[in-house]
Amino acid sequence: MPVIAVVGGHWGDEGKGKLVDFLAERAKLVVRANGGRNAGHTVVVGGSEFHFHLVPSGMLYPGTTCVIGPGVVMDPIKLTEELDELAARGIDTQNLLISDRAHLVLPYHIELDHLNEQARGKARHGTTGNGIAPAYTDKWARIGLRAVDLLDPDGFSQKYQDAVGQKNRLFRAFYGVSTVAVQPDLEHLLAAGERLRPHIGDSNAAVQEALSREELILIEGGQATLLDVDHGTYPYISSSSTSAGLCLGAGVPPNKVSQVFCVFKAFCSRVGSGPFPTELNDSLADHIRERGKEYGVTTGRPRRIGWFDAVAGRYAVEVNGADRIFLTKPDVLDDQPVVKICTAYELDGRRITHFPSAVEELERCTPVYEEWPGFGPIAGMRRFADLSTPAQNYVRRLEELLGAPISMVGTGQAREDTIERELVAA
Ligand code: GDP
Repeated sequence: MPVIAVVGGHWGDEGKGKLVDFLAERAKLVVRANGGRNAGHTVVVGGSEFHFHLVPSGMLYPGTTCVIGPGVVMDPIKLTEELDELAARGIDTQNLLISDRAHLVLPYHIELDHLNEQARGKARHGTTGNGIAPAYTDKWARIGLRAVDLLDPDGFSQKYQDAVGQKNRLFRAFYGVSTVAVQPDLEHLLAAGERLRPHIGDSNAAVQEALSREELILIEGGQATLLDVDHGTYPYISSSSTSAGLCLGAGVPPNKVSQVFCVFKAFCSRVGSGPFPTELNDSLADHIRERGKEYGVTTGRPRRIGWFDAVAGRYAVEVNGADRIFLTKPDVLDDQPVVKICTAYELDGRRITHFPSAVEELERCTPVYEEWPGFGPIAGMRRFADLSTPAQNYVRRLEELLGAPISMVGTGQAREDTIERELVAA
């Protein structure tokens, strides 16, 4: 049985949640590997829409254990709220396992996130304001608190008070703002800790057990390759490994990952700031945004929209070593007479096909497009052979440009609106 890592190919919101949900029925474990509640995955089943933030997208299957992995930063209070929302929808979350090694997002991280964004002014990163970057900063600075700390309320209280004291010195000296109080946040955190206690454990042991039994493990990535802390459009990135390196955040050794599944939308979108070469700033962008419901699940922010960028896409396939691709949302473009693919950039009078490292260069890149005839109806189709010839040709052309097979194609939001061109995990 393979370990499949699901990663986003562009800037996120490609439909990773849909793929994880689709495959999770066959999996023993679904392990969320990175990021925090800034991620938002939407899954549509039986006409109902479910949103996942910290809880992995495999939660709709009672037989599948869903893990919040060691690489995730977890806001305990927000997680209990998410569990309440799922319970209210009749979803059983008993099978949730939270790695005791996962770091915590604490109230002062959220405060710091806002202060940092304010201080940056026009150069702000456009974060979701959930405290993710400050929590990762503390993790790497080795001053973070982890889920395991919640299991010892007295110890946690002491560590939290010390940490608040330290942050308050920073708030006063550097930001010149009033300080945060220990209470009532500590009380809320301890209550959340008690709620989560039955779920907190050694997820690495669960991973090892599934590996030894050769059971299917899915690794669910948050965000996407171009937001990767090492490989993304720095500094307009997320704070974790969002490409195939995220297996480490899942507690899965790299040599056990047998497939990297990269998810791309048939067009591009981006939230937050940062360069976006194929961005459209006209009524077509508005049209695609409305048709594709391109609004942030976590923030409600309208997503920036652009044509498919195969230069960035090829880069993502290479960085991830992607074995397979899931192409989502071609149905959103099926009313377009012409569909464009960016195959190269013009940079300072030169034509390039590599993805620049410097955002200053990427900002100066203009797209070189190939035009393809419109697809005709796609919504709800279940077999590749049912797609029109132009739609099939578009898929094949993307495979050529990206350098990996498109094994699955989405044809709508619902779980069953999916074409599986080959059986990806039996
Ligand atoms: P994720 O963060 O990568 O999981 O992506 P999101 O869930 O934020 O956004 C993807 C959106 O596209 C969700 O609303 C999905 O239900 C939807 N979606 C996924 N695949 C398809 C598809 O093939 N067609 C359409 N129309 N919607 C899709």
